[in-house]
Amino acid sequence: MKIHEYQAKEILRKFGVPTPRGLRCDSVDEAVEAAKKLGGPVWVVKAQIHAGGRGKGGGVKLARSLDEVREHAKAILGMQLKTHQTGPQGQTVRRLLIEEGADIRKELYVGMVVDRGTQRVVMMASSEGGMDIEEVAANTPDKIHKVAIDPAAGLVAKDAEDIARKIGVPEAALPQAGELLKNLYTAFEQTDGALAEINPLIVTGDEKVLALDAKMTFDDNALFRHPEIVALRDFDEEDPAEIEASKFDLAYIQLDGNIGCLVNGAGLAMATMDIIKLYGGSPANFLDVGGGASTEKVTEAFKIMLKNPNLKAILVNIFGGIMKCDVIAEGVVSAARQVSLKVPLVVRLEGTNVELCKKILADSGLPIISASNMADAAEKVVKAIAA
Ligand code: ADP
Ligand code: MG
Repeated sequence: MKIHEYQAKEILRKFGVPTPRGLRCDSVDEAVEAAKKLGGPVWVVKAQIHAGGRGKGGGVKLARSLDEVREHAKAILGMQLKTHQTGPQGQTVRRLLIEEGADIRKELYVGMVVDRGTQRVVMMASSEGGMDIEEVAANTPDKIHKVAIDPAAGLVAKDAEDIARKIGVPEAALPQAGELLKNLYTAFEQTDGALAEINPLIVTGDEKVLALDAKMTFDDNALFRHPEIVALRDFDEEDPAEIEASKFDLAYIQLDGNIGCLVNGAGLAMATMDIIKLYGGSPANFLDVGGGASTEKVTEAFKIMLKNPNLKAILVNIFGGIMKCDVIAEGVVSAARQVSLKVPLVVRLEGTNVELCKKILADSGLPIISASNMADAAEKVVKAIAA
């Protein structure tokens, strides 16, 4: 689960990670009021969307007067902000963070991820923070320092200061920077973080270190023990189809192709998308209906796929292991009837009771195109669109 910068900063402050003072606003007037409350002379008006790269896209602006705060807030609120993380359609800005302007001497970088290889949280830090960190990672990876953190010991003071020194924190600020990194790790660990990124982490003119930007995402599987984080979810930032799918416990991700895929199991769903590509098609979505796909779930999945205006055909690829193929076939037939399906439907089912399943599909009278294996299914669905 993703949250906004202003929310991540609230969490970080609770754990003792310093940030500039700031206030979240939803309107231009609120933005000006917030700037007055914070006091001058310099403010930063920051678009709040669930994507990075806002500065380059025009979503972060410096203001030197209240008039400029108003001007920038007016321009940014409601804009369709396009960054390398939003995709070409961009994301509508509905919220702002008005923050006191910081006196930046140096922009550093620190990030954390759960590394499956080492089975540890890895902290990554670099002296080359700011808006071009992707280029640093690509061209000069030796400028990124990594530490795998022992979960039993946590991030110990010595390692924390070591990292701070390596990325060029001045000597006088090392104890404070070390404390900040330790607190950042604690925040990540206690909230079941999946990713945290402070870019930039800055050194100020008076040698203080603070988090100028903050991105945090959380492990969805651990959200049940963090109601306070679930409460931060901003539905405006999520795809409506994906919100709908999550209500029915369906793992659905909208893509930009035109072949809808309904599959059980994430691995089979990935393989299905691959084989569609191999036959020259393009998937409209990833959809894993999970192990216990009931008629109701299959019907909902069809409805969600059909809301996509780009959809030209559907490929159902189900392996009936624990689940019986005939049960799924009943579900597919009932769903296809309920939604009065207009696009070609190719079905490939394999496994328990597959013969009975084929009979159900054939007897349904629906124009279902039956496929005998995955390659056959992919070929048929691509052909059905071309026809
Ligand atoms: P993004 O990473 O989405 O572009 P950031 O929050 O990192 O957004 O802001 C982009 C840049 O704007 C930063 O690298 C920094 O130079 C500047 N900036 C952001 N917040 C402040 C602030 N409070 N004071 C001064 N400069 C800021
Ligand atoms: Mg940033």
